[in-house]
Amino acid sequence: MPKWDKFLSKESSLLKTSEIRDLLKLTEGKNVISFAGGLPDPTTFPAEDIKNITDYVLDNYSSRALQYSATSGIPELRKELVNLSSQRGISNISENNIFVTVGSQEALFMLFNIMVDPKDNIFVETPSYLAALNILRARNPSFHGIPLTEYGPDLDSLENQLKKLASEGKKVKLTYIIPTAQNPGGTTLSLEGRKRLLELASKYDFMIVEDDAYGFLVFDGDSPAPIKALDKEGRVIYTGTFSKILAPGLRLGWIVADEEIIQEVELFKQNVDLHTPSFTQFIAAEAIKRNVIQNNLPRIRELYRKKRDVMLHAMEQYFPKEASWSKPVGGMFVFAWLPQKIDTVKMLSTALNRGVAYVPGSSFYYDYSGRNTMRINFSFPTEEQINNGIKTLGQLVKDEM
Ligand code: PMP
Repeated sequence: MPKWDKFLSKESSLLKTSEIRDLLKLTEGKNVISFAGGLPDPTTFPAEDIKNITDYVLDNYSSRALQYSATSGIPELRKELVNLSSQRGISNISENNIFVTVGSQEALFMLFNIMVDPKDNIFVETPSYLAALNILRARNPSFHGIPLTEYGPDLDSLENQLKKLASEGKKVKLTYIIPTAQNPGGTTLSLEGRKRLLELASKYDFMIVEDDAYGFLVFDGDSPAPIKALDKEGRVIYTGTFSKILAPGLRLGWIVADEEIIQEVELFKQNVDLHTPSFTQFIAAEAIKRNVIQNNLPRIRELYRKKRDVMLHAMEQYFPKEASWSKPVGGMFVFAWLPQKIDTVKMLSTALNRGVAYVPGSSFYYDYSGRNTMRINFSFPTEEQINNGIKTLGQLVKDEM
């Protein structure tokens, strides 16, 4: 019997450790090719630039960089984030629409906490980003799924469900969506789809939380403008992150939203951690100013494009023809749909025994369906590991069929 259970809040009982995470933990330090994580390739980190910037920040700003600072973020970084946002097509915003967070994870945590009450109707893509689903699960909402197709979320399905809910007199609070290089699906919603989603939000009066974690990481063609760039009503709350374009260890993300929402987030963050570390904010502001991110991005995109190609090529070669998978134009993941009889949760321990790890897709479904799916990461493993690991995985899937 847990000793301290009676002292814990009801809400904490909604926080669950995942069996899968526990299983994957066992592989740490072992000779396993891991497609399970979501780590950037560490060779993309501009360590030398960050070293120079750190010296510069300490030489010139130490009294502020090592001091407490404003809850919404240091003015220098918020100003640079207005510039960076405009490079994603988000214009007509000022520093007052920007809020700096500890990674976009904290952004999502705070947003869902200030917005979602138990039983609220919310829409998420099926599948969607695991850690966002976990924050939402702790809010105990009424989940509704938008099935992911090859072209992104199925908006016909969304519209039908919205109509049905409206006919039952039910209101929808928000839709959480990753429209570009989706995690885990690897799909990207077209510009027309983005416009349609915005129209639906306006018609049925719900908010959109747009997670643009991979917006700068599209390597085939141009990255479509975020939904926030099309938003005239302030219905879209946008989250961005430095984790994939600079370094996740800095733990920096940001929100772009209407000032009223920003003020609510500010009140919430005062309770969470007062403010995001001043020091890393100064580093990031200087990195944008010196074009470190813009100069580094082509190299990151090229590296991941090559790794994606190696993975897709290996899957063509080794996966059974009954399987299908996403062809991501960016991001870090391929998502695979296997024949229905395959249960990727059950298959994981055999995969680990054979020296390869993946994340079973069911973790990314709010209702834990999608038992025949898996997410595989291509940003972290080397090309050789990708090739060997996909060969092993393909053989395993064939053996299970
Ligand atoms: N959103 C998505 C879709 C992600 O994939 C991630 C990281 N895996 C995050 C948010 C959170 O990242 P961070 O907190 O490092 O910004």
